[in-house]
Amino acid sequence: MTTRLSDYRCWRCGEALPEDCLPLRRAELCPACNADLHVCKMCGFYNTALADACEETVATAVGNKERANYCDYFKPSPRAFKGGADDAAARARAELDALFGGAASSAASTDAARNQSELERLFGLKKD
Ligand SMILES: [Zn+2]
Repeated sequence: MTTRLSDYRCWRCGEALPEDCLPLRRAELCPACNADLHVCKMCGFYNTALADACEETVATAVGNKERANYCDYFKPSPRAFKGGADDAAARARAELDALFGGAASSAASTDAARNQSELERLFGLKKD
């Protein structure tokens, strides 16, 4: 028996959440770090660029963005974990390395700048 994982990750630690955690209950906690999951920071409407950090204009403002809320508009976002962006970038770099002959399996971590300029050259962004 295996636990199937959903596309959702804990907004705080990035732990992949089991598929059966959905829909998220208000009392749901992250299995790894015990963070509340029914929170603004886990929500697709969460947007720090806005005054109340919420794109849902009808929703009542929630004071604490990291504590379980009673918001009826709560909609979990698969992109809630911001560390995920770095993971994706690292994965993309690894895939590019593999694509271009694996020249950089060790250099990837030691000489990222050189790889970057190689990529720019490959994609014609920079003239030699
Ligand atoms: Zn967590």
